[in-house]
Amino acid sequence: MVWFTEYWTENIGLTIRAKEIKRIKSKYQEILVLDTYEFGKVLVLDGLIQTTEKDEFMYHELLVHPALVSHPNPQKILIIGGGDGGSVKEALKHKHIQEVHLCEIDEEVIITAEKYFPQISSKLKDPRVKIFIEDGNKFLEERESQNHYDVIIIDSSDPISESKVLFQEQFYQKAKNALKENGILVAQTESPILQEEYFKNAVKNIKKVFNHTQVYIGSVPSYPSGTWSYTIASDHIDFTKINPPPDRFEDLNTKYFSDKLYSCLFNIPEFIKKLISEV
Ligand code: SAM
Repeated sequence: MVWFTEYWTENIGLTIRAKEIKRIKSKYQEILVLDTYEFGKVLVLDGLIQTTEKDEFMYHELLVHPALVSHPNPQKILIIGGGDGGSVKEALKHKHIQEVHLCEIDEEVIITAEKYFPQISSKLKDPRVKIFIEDGNKFLEERESQNHYDVIIIDSSDPISESKVLFQEQFYQKAKNALKENGILVAQTESPILQEEYFKNAVKNIKKVFNHTQVYIGSVPSYPSGTWSYTIASDHIDFTKINPPPDRFEDLNTKYFSDKLYSCLFNIPEFIKKLISEV
């Protein structure tokens, strides 16, 4: 019997019992694959849970689908981070998508996902997917001002070490420059309960760059506090005024996201609105 604890703060953590733990050391981080009783297989990077077989859909569906249904015709998208493949899997459910670029800094995460998480990584070999093993910030620098993408999805780890740059204003500006005119950016923006400063900082920086910014909230039991935030932004799309047609929600085969959920997505709790008003 092996117990693994992820420390959410100095004072609280999540402890999971595992049948087995595999350790892989990459150039960038320590990768663990836990085989657990409650969450199925769990991917951990430098001590922090990234995804689990049990609740990955809760995170990946909410990160990906709101942006893709909000865009009138998303054909070419970029995912930064997301080496486990969960965001790619959800994105390819949309029939408009012709090309997905995945920019992941650590090739070992992709290799591990393909070996131990075949369902989550199932679409990484789809012919519409092109994988770039690069730092997301540098990748965007090379593609600035090129009006490349309809949607950019930031599926990063917490803002520490290699991921830190993915939460900065200059990075969001580069992402905006790489978007087409009607483009949309969406980013995971941490727990508004246990990572208040990370959350506020990310929202503040996105707001500085885009005309329209909306925060929404979802549940992910294996992430700190279980309550997770996402921030969606665009210069030309006011998310509170659009009404995507019903066919955009068809055949997505989702377990969390739906047209009904989307219709009230931006109705967020008052205490989180207050945090946003402080940024
Ligand atoms: N959903 C997860 C979470 O919130 O915990 C994130 C999952 S995904 C596995 C995060 C990925 O971002 C990791 O595989 C990590 O290697 C990658 N990453 C970190 N910094 C990066 C950077 N600067 N450029 C590209 N990918 C990066």
